[in-house]
This record gives sequence, structure tokens and C-alpha cells, in this order.
Amino acid sequence: MKNFTVGPVEPYACIQKAYTREIPYFRTEVYSDLVKSNLRTLSGWLDMEAGSELLYFACSGTGAMEAAVDNCLNEKDRALVINGGTFGARFCSLLEKHHVPYSSVNLRWNEALTELHLSEYQDKGYTALLVNLHETSSGQFYDIEMLSRFCARNHMYLIVDAISTFMADEYSMKKYGVDVTIFSSQKALGLSPGMSFVALSKRMIEKLNDNPSSCYFDFKDSLNNIARGQTPFTPAVNIMYELHYMINYIEEQGGLSSWLEHIAAKCRYFRQKIHGKPYYINDAYSLSNMLTPVIFSGVDAYDVFKRLSSEFGFYVNPCGGELASSMLRISHVGNTSMEDIDQLIAAIDQIVK
Ligand SMILES: *Cc1c(COP(=O)(O)O)cnc(C)c1O
Repeated sequence: MKNFTVGPVEPYACIQKAYTREIPYFRTEVYSDLVKSNLRTLSGWLDMEAGSELLYFACSGTGAMEAAVDNCLNEKDRALVINGGTFGARFCSLLEKHHVPYSSVNLRWNEALTELHLSEYQDKGYTALLVNLHETSSGQFYDIEMLSRFCARNHMYLIVDAISTFMADEYSMKKYGVDVTIFSSQKALGLSPGMSFVALSKRMIEKLNDNPSSCYFDFKDSLNNIARGQTPFTPAVNIMYELHYMINYIEEQGGLSSWLEHIAAKCRYFRQKIHGKPYYINDAYSLSNMLTPVIFSGVDAYDVFKRLSSEFGFYVNPCGGELASSMLRISHVGNTSMEDIDQLIAAIDQIVK
């Protein structure tokens, strides 16, 4: 079996040490030091400015998205959401649930986000922009420079769900003036599902709500605890150890830039290899190195997905809704090699033949 999925991904051998490790008690200096060290490394990789903070929670990525909406925004804000698929729609639902007024830029299937979409919302009193920088459901990778410029011009906070781009593409909170970055363990970080992170800029820390509706996700409470490497409630201790092993592995491989190059190389290899095939890359918009959306014609994409798993043991991501029968998403993160990619393509060829 091989996972070419967006997450959980094919695991790297290095984290398997954490699977069998006894889980230690966590209200200890040893655990606090582990947390501080891991978060320090991640803060560096996120390129966080001085005075910003990184929090982590025991939940999937959506938990962190909801926590950010609940703690960072309130009914006096006016939010703008880039809604280009499943995850954009999720931000809309969360804002509704938490009574934050919002508008959304609703993109049609295959519609690329441009400056023109944003210009309609220029100088209209919006206070925050929420974007899933890589909209994993379609594979559209938005232009962070364009979004960052728009926010700066309009004095808006920039809230980025970077769940499926952080650790797969270059990213910098400082450079793009990002106020909130959300990411989770099971995507490009390659860890087990169940841990999510929220990085907060200095000015967002000053804006945080005093009374979020959630008791578990109370950022101020979490900030008080993280200062000493602790969380108010029981963390996913096992995943914190996986993160430790993963960080060591990435550092051994040459650090973040080599890591990103390794993913970019797999991505390039896949895209070159399928050139000229009867299935092709969806190039209606920019793509992340994390994922290639592949369009099929003459065969049912969902059928290809089913046969890849049942006949070959390869897992890729099918699409939902109107894309179900025409598109599959192939991920380039996780422990897959160039040979694995060759085998995947050979399997697809055999199915579509
Ligand atoms: C995976 C993902 C999420 C979170 O999904 P969970 O199932 O809650 O972990 C959120 N946003 C994007 C862009 C994602 O790819």
C-alpha cells in the first residue's frame, strides 16, 4: 500500500519510533523543553516576527480554524472569505456559527482568483481576510503577494489556513504580514492526525477576544501556558514526539530549504512524466507543489480512484461534487519516492488504457 494522499500521508520511517515509545507524563520539565524546542523550530520555519506566538491543540485542522474564528474575530469585524471550494466554504460556516459578519468571494469551478475579484471589496470597511492559501479541494494555490498587498492597502488582518501548503511551498508570516497561520500535523508535516497549530502575530495577540465562546480553545489561556511549554489541557503527547523525530530528520536532510526542494522535485517529476498522456494537469489556476489536480476524460475518475486502491494498493484523493467523475488529486508530500511515482503512473496507464 502507498498513500499519494494529502493527509494522513505515507509516513516517514523516522516517526515510527514514536509509535512504540511509552507515552510519558507531560507536566514535567522534560516535556516542556521538548515542546519549546519543537515550537521554536516551527516558528523559524514559519518565519514569525518577534513578539508573535505559536500555540498547539489536540484537534484536526478544522478545530484550529474554528478556534481562530472564535478568538480572533467578533461581531464588530467584517470578514472577507476567499471561497474557492470545500475549505473556503468551511470558513463561511464557521463565521456564521460564531456570528461574525462576512462576505465571500465565491469562485466557480476552475475560476482563478484575480485582482479584479478583490477590487470590488476595496475600501469597504472589511477588517479581516480569511483564505485557505492552498484550496486543497480544487488544488488552486492563491497568490499570497496579491492577498497580502490587498490587506495592507485596506488595513485588514490576514488569516491564513496554510494547512496544505506549509512545509510544501515557501511561506513567510513576516514577509507577507500574516496575522494568523493555521496548520495541522497530518498534511505536509507528515505526522499522525490529531494535532493542529495556530501562529499569532503580535498585533493579533493584542486583538484577541477576552471571552471566546469556547473554553477549550481560549487563546489567552493557552498563551499563558505555552510560555512555560505547557497547555491548559492534555496534549497529543505522542504526536509531539513524532514532531521531534520529524524535525531531526528534516534537519539531517539539510533543513527546510532542502526539504522544500525535495517535494518540488517529486512534483516536477510527476508533472513531467504525465506530459502527453490521455489525462492531464488542470492548469486553470496556479498550483502548489503539494498536489497535482489531474483531469480524466473518457474514463470515470472515481472509477480510476477505486481501481488504484483495490488493484494496486495506491491511494490518491478523489474529488467531491461535480468534479467526482472528472478529477483526481495526487499528492507529492509524504514518504514516496520517484520509483513510487513511476509505479503509480504505470498503474493509472493500465487502468485508462
Ligand atoms: C486538510 C485541510 C483542512 C483541515 O481538515 P481536517 O480534516 O479538519 O484536518 C483545512 N483546510 C485545508 C486547506 C485542508 O487541506
